Amino acid sequence: MINEKMKKVGKEGSAIVELSDYGKKRKKEIGENNVFDFSIGNPSVPCPDSVTKNLIDIIKNTDPVKLHSYTSMNGVYETRHAIAEYLNKTYGSSLSGEYIYMTPGASSGLTICFHALLNKDDEVIVFAPFFPEYKVFIEKAYGKVVALNCDKNTCLPDLKLLKKSITKRTKMVIINSPNNPTGVIYKEDLIKQISSILNQKQKEYDQDIYLLSDEPYRELIYSDVKYPFITNYYSNSIVVYSFSKSLSLPGERIGYILLGDKLHKKEDVYNAIKGAGRSLGYESAPALFQYLIPSCLGVTSNISIYKENRDILYNYLIELGYQVIYPEGAFYSFMKCLEEDSIKFSNVAKKFELLLVPSNTFGINGFVRISYCVSKEMIIKSLPSFKKLKQYYAIKKRSNYGFKANKIKN
Ligand code: PLP
Repeated sequence: MINEKMKKVGKEGSAIVELSDYGKKRKKEIGENNVFDFSIGNPSVPCPDSVTKNLIDIIKNTDPVKLHSYTSMNGVYETRHAIAEYLNKTYGSSLSGEYIYMTPGASSGLTICFHALLNKDDEVIVFAPFFPEYKVFIEKAYGKVVALNCDKNTCLPDLKLLKKSITKRTKMVIINSPNNPTGVIYKEDLIKQISSILNQKQKEYDQDIYLLSDEPYRELIYSDVKYPFITNYYSNSIVVYSFSKSLSLPGERIGYILLGDKLHKKEDVYNAIKGAGRSLGYESAPALFQYLIPSCLGVTSNISIYKENRDILYNYLIELGYQVIYPEGAFYSFMKCLEEDSIKFSNVAKKFELLLVPSNTFGINGFVRISYCVSKEMIIKSLPSFKKLKQYYAIKKRSNYGFKANKIKN
């Protein structure tokens, strides 16, 4: 007998990947440039030249036996300490490389944290819309997801609801800023308010409540927002980071877990992180990329390209009368559907060759996610389809009977 739960997770698959696969098939049918695939969050900007150059230098100048050896299970000492030093310099924190654990990307970092900290039926609060894999990872670690709807107009957490929803079983709250799927950023004031609520609840229940900040988009910010680094605001905080997006290296699988300097029982938590890493087989992250990281701290891909895409798309959608959450960061736009059901809306969008991810996959209904990490040319070419989609609903509303989308097309 195999594990039925895992079979179900595998069979269901990810709605995002499914849509992207549909896009690949559709491109074969009608041509690469005629499908507007906004489904997946794969960086479209190349990694910085310095990354390529430094990789070549490392390969040329490192003893190949050392280069391809296992590293320490928690990561290369120099890399962990270089990360802590960089963060301290950038955010004025007092972190130590002794409490960093190198991981193959953020996904494994999240999974490790859930396995390290959750006991059966412990509750983890997430703010909907949320990254769909949280649910998969948390449930695999026997935790329970408590999804709290954000304010529909701002897509920011509803703090009254947060306060009400923390129970004796709450072990952790997850935040993700800049956010996937909405592109919103949690500003300093909000971080302070969340921290204050959690401090109050920790006291009330006399237990630790961890604030896990999932930060693969930390550097992808298109305004002058000062990033509130979470360990400076809340003692029991844990950061999960990835270089997938900031350096456009998602296939290389490199990131880290970082424990806040004032985390309660830090040594025990770090041992649990190591134990979870070990038991899940996530030890000794990719060596070549661990050696690369110290030379890339503070470097990012050219994110001005995403900003330009954001501006073209957002301005046009607003001009057409769509309601869109203003994306200040990451490379996602969250747009209100023109009908209640986001799956139906996404299916109608397909008729105009627009691949938009329905928001029910992120835990709420009524929106679609548009990943604008695509070429500027594709965005420009897709704009008439957004117009046709809007016209389709305008006419449908007026005629109020079985209207065919291809009437707009012709
Ligand atoms: N967390 C969020 C919010 C993400 O959007 C992603 C990837 O898209 C991840 C975690 C996983 O990142 P990684 O590629 O480093 O595993």
